[in-house]
Amino acid sequence: MSINKPSPLVPEPIRQVCPVCRKFSYSASGIHPQCAMAKADQARSEKIKLLKAAAESLMPDQPPRRHERVCPKCKATQHIRKRTCVCGYAFPIPQRQFST
Ligand SMILES: [Zn+2]
Ligand SMILES: [Zn+2]
Repeated sequence: MSINKPSPLVPEPIRQVCPVCRKFSYSASGIHPQCAMAKADQARSEKIKLLKAAAESLMPDQPPRRHERVCPKCKATQHIRKRTCVCGYAFPIPQRQFST
């Protein structure tokens, strides 16, 4: 019984490692076509993400949702039932007008 590995009949081609999935690629460019596509897609989605973030930063502050109010001190959104904000700001207690 021999422990020597059988030598390949054909010389192994120069294998390039795909920069995306880190697996050997036999294609001429050294990158799998699907990986190249995925990479292009990733770059595009990152660009979209950046554009979206830029657009959001330009947009005015979102109005508070129902049952929420914005602290005038730190601009944090609080639940309407909370009397004090995390920054320590105490919301004015609404005064009820009793007409008797
Ligand atoms: Zn790949
Ligand atoms: Zn606050």
